[in-house]
Amino acid sequence: MPEVVLAVDIGGTKTAVAVADRDDVLRRRVTAPTPASAGPQAVIDTVVSLARSVLTADGESLVGVGIGTAGIVDAGSGTIVSATDTFADWPGTPVAELVRRGLADLLPEDAVVAVQNDVDAHAVGEFRHGAAAAASSALVVAVGTGVGSGVILDGDVVRGAHHVGGEIAHVPIPGAEHLRCPCGRFGHLEALGSGIGMHRHFLSLGGDPAVPDARGVAAAAAGGDPIASRALSESAAAVGRAIAGAATLIDPEVVVLTGGVPNIGEPWWRPLRDAYAREAIDALQNTPLLAGTLGDDAPLRGAAGSAWRKNP
Ligand SMILES: [Zn+2]
Repeated sequence: MPEVVLAVDIGGTKTAVAVADRDDVLRRRVTAPTPASAGPQAVIDTVVSLARSVLTADGESLVGVGIGTAGIVDAGSGTIVSATDTFADWPGTPVAELVRRGLADLLPEDAVVAVQNDVDAHAVGEFRHGAAAAASSALVVAVGTGVGSGVILDGDVVRGAHHVGGEIAHVPIPGAEHLRCPCGRFGHLEALGSGIGMHRHFLSLGGDPAVPDARGVAAAAAGGDPIASRALSESAAAVGRAIAGAATLIDPEVVVLTGGVPNIGEPWWRPLRDAYAREAIDALQNTPLLAGTLGDDAPLRGAAGSAWRKNP
């Protein structure tokens, strides 16, 4: 019987569960809204019921589960360390233990349940199968409504002493001092470089309040609105500067940029590359800044990869 793992991506708005083979190829996938405000048990129940619905095929042997989730995660114990308010009571949730209990009748006792931050799972996906697949190390930065990143060195995800390793979101950035970060402090990358940050920066510059979000800012910039152009360009440049700083510290073989904001295209990438080129020292000028290639598959394929890696 072919062995498979479950790959789980718990996001702020939606949860996806897939069956993956040994090459982390996703065979089947189901999704449902994440009941983030309803508390941890509701989130876990959603994962378990999606898992049961996607595991209907006979002839497969479930040998592990890989989970990427919002929040800072203790990957050693599979427990949530901290999270934003979107997820009610999520900190302290023993995700690995609860999922193992919910799937006890389907999962062998010694099976791996590998839990990690969703952006780390995303980074593993791009590292194993996507834009960084040929590299030995990578910095993967996801820029969407928020900013997150994962670092892989010598094939391993950097976790850090406090489970924050590889996270670029809260690096201080010049030009972001007037913007409050989701962590409560001012001046961090996420406050300016995220989609929400770009929009708030646009409003702070006196932009049209009728423009609803980052997509709207990009559209206004394309239509010739100078405030929108400035907000877009400064938001992208903040990401470029932060990447130059991170690259100086860890010297990754490649940098991968993924998430919704890079889809804005050249009006975002150009100021990002210019800012990187201005800040990075000569030895780092040729570090490739690449677009992610796996999209929404990345966190699932990465979660699957982490389940297999502990399960050789
Ligand atoms: Zn912050």
